[in-house]
Amino acid sequence: MFHKTLPGFIEVICGSMFSGKTEELVRRLKRSQIARQKIQVFKPALDNRYSTDHVQSHDSNRLPSRAVEKAKDILRFVDDNTRVVGIDEAQFFDDSVVDIAQKLAYRGIRVIVAGLDMDFQGQPFGPMPKLLAVAEQVTKLSAVCMICGGPATRTQRTSGTSTQKIVVGAKELYEARCRFCHEPHEQENGEGEAYPAPRPAV
Ligand code: ADP
Ligand code: MG
Ligand code: ZN
Repeated sequence: MFHKTLPGFIEVICGSMFSGKTEELVRRLKRSQIARQKIQVFKPALDNRYSTDHVQSHDSNRLPSRAVEKAKDILRFVDDNTRVVGIDEAQFFDDSVVDIAQKLAYRGIRVIVAGLDMDFQGQPFGPMPKLLAVAEQVTKLSAVCMICGGPATRTQRTSGTSTQKIVVGAKELYEARCRFCHEPHEQENGEGEAYPAPRPAV
């Protein structure tokens, strides 16, 4: 049996806030444009930090994008001649974004997904674990820990006491931290214990 080799695959770019996910997404998409491939970029309508019609990094690198309410809207808006689809802030979509990415890849489209792998409490974020599982290629970026200067893998919520998982914000609300400087807000794990367990003494 011969299968026509299609370029369709899924790449995931993950990491904490400020780790350069959007920068890397924009870099890859701009290279595709240089190769004269049609690109389209989507993000959840929820992420309105800078603008509703661009994806923008904290460094102001940006590309036009379409804000969609639901992941399935992406399918409706992808044009027939599009070769590369970028999705930023994928953690804010529901699990259906996994099927959408798979469908696009089976159509021969290169799908580049960027998103937070963990929420501010250090827990896997939304559909990201599943996207990581089905992706052909995974890039995990780190930021710089604002406490110790080491590689930061986690996002610290620096103000407010809300335990609400999704509070959209940037520098005024969040900073990057390493595992040891990260202080997740305490929450019950259902067994009467504070989560996470205390750090082992060193
Ligand atoms: P992400 O999409 O992962 O949140 P961005 O691509 O928007 O990240 O921004 C990355 C940029 O953020 C870096 O190039 C740097 O200029 C800036 N930045 C601000 N704080 C930090 C930090 N703590 N660690 C690394 N980069 C930071
Ligand atoms: Mg980003
Ligand atoms: Zn640190």
